Amino acid sequence: MRPTLRRYAFLLMFAAVLAMPSCQINPYTGRSQLMLLDRQTELALGSQAYQEQLAQEESKITYDPVYLEPVQRIAQRLSRQMESGWGEIPPPGFQWEVHVIDDPKTANAWALPGGKIAVYTGLFPVCKDEHGLAVVLGHEIMHAVLRHGNERISQGMLTGVGTEVLAAALGRENEEKKKMLQAAIGLGASVGLLLPYSRKGETEADEFGLYLAARAGYDPREGIEVWRRMEQAGAAGVPEFLSTHPSHGTRIQNMQTWMPKALQSFEQSERQPNQPLPAPGHARRVAPPPAPANCLAPVAVNRQVVDGIELAQFQLHTQCAVYVDRVDVQGPDAATTVEAGSGIPGNEERFVMIRRTNGGGVPRGRYTLRFKGAVDGRPWEEVLQFDLR
Ligand SMILES: [Zn+2]
Repeated sequence: MRPTLRRYAFLLMFAAVLAMPSCQINPYTGRSQLMLLDRQTELALGSQAYQEQLAQEESKITYDPVYLEPVQRIAQRLSRQMESGWGEIPPPGFQWEVHVIDDPKTANAWALPGGKIAVYTGLFPVCKDEHGLAVVLGHEIMHAVLRHGNERISQGMLTGVGTEVLAAALGRENEEKKKMLQAAIGLGASVGLLLPYSRKGETEADEFGLYLAARAGYDPREGIEVWRRMEQAGAAGVPEFLSTHPSHGTRIQNMQTWMPKALQSFEQSERQPNQPLPAPGHARRVAPPPAPANCLAPVAVNRQVVDGIELAQFQLHTQCAVYVDRVDVQGPDAATTVEAGSGIPGNEERFVMIRRTNGGGVPRGRYTLRFKGAVDGRPWEEVLQFDLR
């Protein structure tokens, strides 16, 4: 019988993120926030979760321009406004992205750290028109810009939850922990875990989201109408916006307090057109753009001994953010599959490690690693070859 290579582990490098506890003054709100994750880790988490979530929504992501065009245009307008600076505050410097998921039953939208946005078409009837959507997207974008996800994870760390979550490898073995982390950075409703932002966070997202929409040329008065409609849609469930938000009376009262300032910005802005949004659930099949071909590059292959067991360690570099579902490894005399189930941000190093089931050394020769998964929710496959000496 030929010896087989058994699955080992797909290593993820999130162990070293426990930074010194630090409170930081948020430059927008002036509020002191607990931030235990450095910026790079925060952005990496956003990118990773984005790839994972899009891979899951693959069948519902739409490229029909009727749906995609207005959302893309509004998201782009808001993100450019954000990146053009906010008084003395330096721009966030995000790599913005937006996708539309045609799902009439889900009235939701989210923006993850790094400006990774998704809009579900079930939100269209609540927003009604483009200006309404701009106000909601402004709210979501501000959660990311104001770093509410980092804050939520940091608060979790203090109670002993987040530390464990972050120290864990976030592959398939830790599905529950991964979900908690994804919920913390903004995917709550999507991953089936309700983990509310603080009421303070929601009020801040409301306020600065309103200002952002107004600065970008969208009528902030639409905001009041949108939140009113959300209240009415409440029974049907509007996940992100209802469960955790300030009571509606308070919210609308707040909006009226901020309105003079918002209107002032709106008057100085370049007014944007306003069209009704299309009815959800009728997206035409439009082929997605092909996934990029060179997302991974081989770096090196080495032998490693861990706990007395010899491993072959394939090192690679990601040139773009990907979701790796699994890796089929073909060796000189055997084959195996590494279950990954993990997103990886772009420009990072990762390892695939394998070992012999019988404990003997991994034989020298050529190894072909076939990666299967998705890039931005588009099916993706890539092959790397390594020569193990
Ligand atoms: Zn919110």
